[in-house]
Amino acid sequence: MKSWASVAIPPLQKTFRVPPLRIFDTAAQEISEVEVKSLYRMYVCGITPYDATHLGHANTYLAFDLLHRYLLATGAKVHFVENITDIDDPLLERAKRDEIDWQDLATSQIDLFRSDMVALHILPPAHYIGAVDAIPLVITAISVLDAADSVYKVESDLYFKVHSDAKFGSRSHLPQDQMLKIFSERGGDPDRAGKQDPLDALLWLAQRPDEPGWESKYGIGRPGWHIECCAIALNYLDIDPASATSIDFQGGGSDLIFPHHEMSAAQAKLMNGKEFASHYVHAGMIGLDGEKMSKSKGNLVFVSQLLREGIDAMVIRTALLRHHYRSDHMWHNSEIDEARIFLDELRLCLSREDVAPTDRTIEAVVAALSEDLNTPAALSALLNWMNATNHGESGGSAGELSRAIDALLGIAI
Ligand code: ZN
Repeated sequence: MKSWASVAIPPLQKTFRVPPLRIFDTAAQEISEVEVKSLYRMYVCGITPYDATHLGHANTYLAFDLLHRYLLATGAKVHFVENITDIDDPLLERAKRDEIDWQDLATSQIDLFRSDMVALHILPPAHYIGAVDAIPLVITAISVLDAADSVYKVESDLYFKVHSDAKFGSRSHLPQDQMLKIFSERGGDPDRAGKQDPLDALLWLAQRPDEPGWESKYGIGRPGWHIECCAIALNYLDIDPASATSIDFQGGGSDLIFPHHEMSAAQAKLMNGKEFASHYVHAGMIGLDGEKMSKSKGNLVFVSQLLREGIDAMVIRTALLRHHYRSDHMWHNSEIDEARIFLDELRLCLSREDVAPTDRTIEAVVAALSEDLNTPAALSALLNWMNATNHGESGGSAGELSRAIDALLGIAI
């Protein structure tokens, strides 16, 4: 799958110290320091291509873009891979409802997603991999799990024995009743007859009438969602045999903590013996009118719609940055106006000949981001600098601050 256009990142002045990142890890349930490395491996779960790109999506990919940019600012390289679930039940259901071809729906939504990512200045993944293209990898992954005696059949479908992984549940920390409830709400089938454990995860779904299927040694069918991400991540992130974990960061929205990330991590653990990720990082949910923004509720605000209304993509980005990436929050239309006022003022201040000192401001932005990507604190530091500039303070470099804002926050001035 074609990725999207690269985004240029201006260099930071070498004199600025960029401390190791501290970030909240869902598995550890605390903020922990990220090991200093020269190369990080990051996997972020992509969309299922229908209803792209609403602000909840944008918030998630923005969070991992900030993480990506911070790691680059430390001088490290980042190997970033993202998937796109271009075959799954919700896509087929939507195509059927709208009486369109599921492939046409997927193609149009993937194109829209790419253009939204470019507009929002989200750094692209090195590999952007579709589930359909990954089917051979999925089949290989299922074979490895099968050899470890972690696979069984229910009729013609294949399931993964979740308790093959002794650490199953350790990334999401949910009691059994909650796991069952959420599993059922998010596409799982705890009540299916023939399953050994209600939480066992679908690996391969045999072809159903009027649905697409692909040839495999397990019969014609299509992959389960969790094994798709596990197979793509382990294949495309060039796992270091010497490392204790397969990858550094597994990312996604907090609605993926369970079952998706727990299942992928359990499967990956069985495949190579390593804990899947050093850090499980999750972005909060955005709501509208008192409810979570979601496809099922139909209360979505789309990035493309805001762009069509003439709203500057950097204003949308700034509006999202005003909230901490982990916070669940409600979206209000006034946020666009507030972000526009902030960004207009910032641009005006940066266009002045004399500006307030900038070194301390850049240090404050870096310090804020180093502590769990605290963007509200970073924007506060910029606001203080704008006030100082408006009060006539001088001696700073607008160009240097402008480049730092672009490199770290992704706001092109
Ligand atoms: Zn995933």
